[in-house]
Amino acid sequence: METYSTIDETRGWLEEARITGKSVGFVPTMGALHEGHLALMQRAKTENHCCVCSIYVNPTQFNNRQDLEKYPRNLNQDARMLENIGCDLLFTPQTDEIYPHGVQELLDIEFGRLDKVMEGRFRPGHFRGVATVVRKLFDIVKPDRAYFGKKDYQQLAIIREMVRQYQLPVEIMASDTVREPDGLAMSSRNMRLTIAERQVAPVIYQVLQQIKQRAGKKTIRELISWGVKQMEKKPGFSVEYLEIANRYTLQPISTWKEKDEAVVFVAAFLGDVRLIDNLELFS
Ligand code: AMP
Repeated sequence: METYSTIDETRGWLEEARITGKSVGFVPTMGALHEGHLALMQRAKTENHCCVCSIYVNPTQFNNRQDLEKYPRNLNQDARMLENIGCDLLFTPQTDEIYPHGVQELLDIEFGRLDKVMEGRFRPGHFRGVATVVRKLFDIVKPDRAYFGKKDYQQLAIIREMVRQYQLPVEIMASDTVREPDGLAMSSRNMRLTIAERQVAPVIYQVLQQIKQRAGKKTIRELISWGVKQMEKKPGFSVEYLEIANRYTLQPISTWKEKDEAVVFVAAFLGDVRLIDNLELFS
């Protein structure tokens, strides 16, 4: 595996690959890698001639300074994991490489209603930061396919919308959420949970599953208030939102008429760690 921190070296390596007709699969990440990231890499490897991973903790998508500072960083271990699964190229840029004119330089893009709800509502500016960095990374890597996790369902919708608006020549591939044996969605943030918090964290997925089982039988309003109560009964939990929304528009739904397109979404603080998860109710 080659590891580069400059755009020039990365572009140079990829140009060579492209000249010989190789397709490129790309997985952008913020590092502190786990099985969820590796599953995306494995898929990128299987479906392309070469696979590229980027590790960059993008400051413009954090609306909370503390969250940015506390974000786990584990580059040596990440590089070993990527080497072991056969990643071809790891790109680890610094901020002056990605934002040469400063971090105030953000993409001028409107997402309509997509970024007004859920993560967009509670983390203002987050998706503009995500779209900015992903657009820049796509421009450097020029992947044929880019892989994203459904764990960040709204992010996936935002990226698809950005690709559509700029007509970028990249295929966006979505992969299922990888979970711990007890159901907790894998996340780099899980390593910041205390032992006690980690023990109660699986209630998030249990609530999502039970909402799925009861979908169509109870009203949406009943299920949401029941779900919030279940989580907040556990010590340290504070639910930011629990919503059932349309998979395409991400707008909340209030009746089961749209059940075939319904997804349940949650964001909750466990202590000072913010966790998100979701479950498709139609599959
Ligand atoms: P991050 O490093 O958190 O920015 O995530 C990089 C990519 O990995 C994003 O496309 C995420 O959606 C995806 N990802 C993160 N956690 C998981 C998971 N548990 N299962 C599947 N994909 C994931």
